[in-house]
Amino acid sequence: MEKREQLYEGKAKKVFKTDDPNLLIVSYKDDATAFNGEKKGTIAAKGAVNNRVSNHMMSLLEKEGIKTHYVETLNDRETLVRSVEIIPLEVIMRNIAAGSLSKRLGLPEGTKLSVPVLEYCYKKDELGDPMINNYHIKAMGLATEEELQVIESMAFAINAFMTQYFKTVNIELIDFKIEFGRTPEGEVILADEISPDTCRFWDTNTNEKLDKDRFRRDLGNVEEAYQEVLKRLLGDH
Ligand code: UDP
Repeated sequence: MEKREQLYEGKAKKVFKTDDPNLLIVSYKDDATAFNGEKKGTIAAKGAVNNRVSNHMMSLLEKEGIKTHYVETLNDRETLVRSVEIIPLEVIMRNIAAGSLSKRLGLPEGTKLSVPVLEYCYKKDELGDPMINNYHIKAMGLATEEELQVIESMAFAINAFMTQYFKTVNIELIDFKIEFGRTPEGEVILADEISPDTCRFWDTNTNEKLDKDRFRRDLGNVEEAYQEVLKRLLGDH
């Protein structure tokens, strides 16, 4: 599949057209940003790690019956995906308190939540991605009630699968952010990425952070943490 003109460049990925209007090529960058773009840097080989980790997770989720945009890995950094209209929501699932939830509710990081918590943020950089609820989403026409029901049930199913899967490689899935898109037929499918940029991963035995918090908080060994996640999921190849 040939890469045609660039459609879009985001903070961590570029998106290209192909000759097939239903398919796009995503190219993962090493650029890293945090705090709504205020902190910028690069993480060596991050693009290749995120591409491989995300494609691995999407393939496993497909086997679990979760529809995703993933079609085919093209090379180290590039993947063929289905073209969808992104629903402008950050869908966040949390199992253990961390990050903005800890701040907002005064729950120390590491506090187990007795049930998984779903949150929505409105994807809008100028507003700093504010948290919203189902009523805001429907009132603003971002998604319908039917779409929200699909998103919610998919988000819980994805969380249940990923939590148990990551445990098998000694990783606790603290929280993560996913995005959904609409196909031309109006079906809601999982899009964007699942990677150490978008999930919090803690080593089960040591609680060592294996995710973007190492970059956000200047904890060091950022590249090594990303490589470690890849190695635990895919071995040394
Ligand atoms: N997250 C993300 N993109 C964002 C905001 C959050 O991928 O723009 C992920 C983040 O990596 C974490 C989860 O969503 O795994 C929850 O993030 P939180 O709301 O705690 O915000 P943060 O502390 O990352 O600002």
